[in-house]
Amino acid sequence: MVYFVGAGPGDIELITVKGMKVMGLADCVIYAGSLINHDLLGYAKNGCKFFDSAKMTLEEVMEIILNNEKTGIVTVRLHTGDPSLYGAIKEQIDILFDNGVDYEIIPGVSSFAGAAASLGAEYTLPGVSQTVILTRMEGRTPVPERERISELAKIQASMAIFLSSGMLDQLSERLIEGGYPGNTPAAIVYKATWPEEKIVRATVAELSEAGARNDIKKTAIVLVGNFLSGEYERSLLYDPDFSHGCRKGRKSDE
Ligand code: SAH
Repeated sequence: MVYFVGAGPGDIELITVKGMKVMGLADCVIYAGSLINHDLLGYAKNGCKFFDSAKMTLEEVMEIILNNEKTGIVTVRLHTGDPSLYGAIKEQIDILFDNGVDYEIIPGVSSFAGAAASLGAEYTLPGVSQTVILTRMEGRTPVPERERISELAKIQASMAIFLSSGMLDQLSERLIEGGYPGNTPAAIVYKATWPEEKIVRATVAELSEAGARNDIKKTAIVLVGNFLSGEYERSLLYDPDFSHGCRKGRKSDE
C-alpha cells in the first residue's frame, strides 16, 4: 500500500491526523527533502527507512515503491503542503495504476493557506474578490501562454503565486502589465508556519526590492490583491438583517 501524504506547510502539527497515523504505519518514507520539515520524520516508527526524493529521479522513486509492494512494505510518499499542487504525483499514480498497486492520497494544508493564516488574511472578502488564483511564473516548467501572470492579473482576483520568489522583478512587471496598480498590496511569506517564517508586506511595485532587502529567494509564496488592503464589506452571512437556512434575520418577514 502506498500513501501520498500532504505534509502541510512546515509546522509539524499541521499534518492531518490521518497523515500522522499513516506516518506511524510506514516501513518506508520517501520525502521531498528540499521542502518538508524533517522533524515530521519523527512520526515514523523505529526501523522505518527514509529516502530523500530531492536527490532521486522518478524512476528511482518508483523502483523503491514497487519493490516495497512485492514484500508488502507500506510506503509513505510525503509531499509538502497539499500533494495536488505542484506535487508531481500524477506521474507516480499512473505508474502505480499500470502496476496494479493500491494507493491513497491524504490531503494536506497548502502553503497558500498557511501563509494566509500567518498574515491573518482572508482571500475572499465581500466587495473585494470572491476568487483565488493559484499560479506560478514559468521556470524550467513552462506555463501555458494564456495563463501568463499578465493575463491572470486582468481578472483582479486575489492571487497566491508559488515557485516565483526568485523572479520578483519579472513578477512585479507582469502584474502591473496585467492591470494591478503598482500600489496594490502584496506580501511575501517565507517559510510560512516554520519557526523561521518571515512576513514581508510590500506593494506590487516594491516586490523585488522587498525580497532582496530580506534576502528571500526561495521557499516563499507571494500573495497579491486588495484582500490585503484592510478595506471590505462585512459579510451577509453574519449580518443581523440577513436570513438564511439556519437563522432568521431581523428584517425578515418570513
Ligand atoms: N504542494 C505545495 C507546493 C509545492 S511547490 C503546497 O501545497 O504548498 C513549492 C512552492 O510552494 C515553493 O516554491 C513556495 O512557493 C511554496 N511553499 C511551500 N512551502 C511553503 C511555505 N512553508 N511558505 C511559503 N511558501 C511555501
